[in-house]
Amino acid sequence: FSKRNGSNSFNYYQQSMNADALKRLTVEQNLRIALDSNELSLAYQPQIDLGTGKLSGFEALLRWNSQELGQVPPMEFIPVAEECGLMIPIGDWVIKTACQQAKEWIDDGLSIPRIGVNVSICQFTQANFLETVREILNETCLPAEFLQIEITESLLLSKTVNIAKTLKGLNELGVQIAIDDFGTGYSNLSRLKEMPINQLKIDRSFVCGIDDNLKNRSILTAIIAMASGIDLGVIAEGVETDGQLGFLKNEECDEVQGFLISYPMNKEMASEYLKTKVFLPT
Ligand code: C2E
Ligand code: MG
Ligand code: MG
Ligand code: MG
Repeated sequence: FSKRNGSNSFNYYQQSMNADALKRLTVEQNLRIALDSNELSLAYQPQIDLGTGKLSGFEALLRWNSQELGQVPPMEFIPVAEECGLMIPIGDWVIKTACQQAKEWIDDGLSIPRIGVNVSICQFTQANFLETVREILNETCLPAEFLQIEITESLLLSKTVNIAKTLKGLNELGVQIAIDDFGTGYSNLSRLKEMPINQLKIDRSFVCGIDDNLKNRSILTAIIAMASGIDLGVIAEGVETDGQLGFLKNEECDEVQGFLISYPMNKEMASEYLKTKVFLPT
């Protein structure tokens, strides 16, 4: 390729394609050793009950500190893990680690009402997913009611496997189910009502706009009203300002989670938080 024949932009395009593919490959190769090299950890973000001002749960969020690549954000490595089959072992590790940690806090007398864990569709639709959860709860001795599994709306639409059966099985175990990033997918509201779901997590895109966007405020009000109408708990994600918190309190949203309350914390900081934190004034 020469500069003279005007192929410059094409060249550039090709190079950037290669750079993306290379990056993805690098992520994949390093991710393959991440579990065994102890490069993965969980961060815990508090969730607050607006009625009591107290902690209602922690969401466990996966962190990867790669020796080669440094800290890689979940949005960059989770899609890769899902594509190359690594999300199953990594996801099992996440559930187990979160359950172990919750049990440890309970045994230490630290009040942790609930631990939320994100589960990918590819993980949830494994034939043995229910069995895996049951085994982890047995092994870690965590009472099932403490575990909340977060799934996305799109999972409810999938007809390929028997989602309803797995949800029912989890519900019978006593595990709680939350729908994550609610409002961004194509929710089938009648399906929601039929499924054993405990909580809707309103996506933060609706929350971040409410200070100056009347439409987002209307959407939030509608979701909160709908959730309480069909007896679902509702939590707003991504609460960053006092204005947002005030609005959500006023609309009687059950719970909040966001940087205003706390950033996700490593386990040492989360333990400290459980010991010392005075929660929201009511
Ligand atoms: P998510 O489940 O919706 O998690 C909430 C994300 O929003 C987290 O990003 C959290 O750090 C961030 N966040 C919390 N409060 C605020 C706020 O006030 N403002 C803003 N701007 N952001 C806030 P994170 O940790 O980077 O995770 C991103 C996504 O990666 C998660 O979104 C979830 O979909 C996925 N993820 C994380 N851990 C796991 C995991 O163990 N398994 C699976 N399958 N997915 C995971
Ligand atoms: Mg989540
Ligand atoms: Mg979310
Ligand atoms: Mg989200």
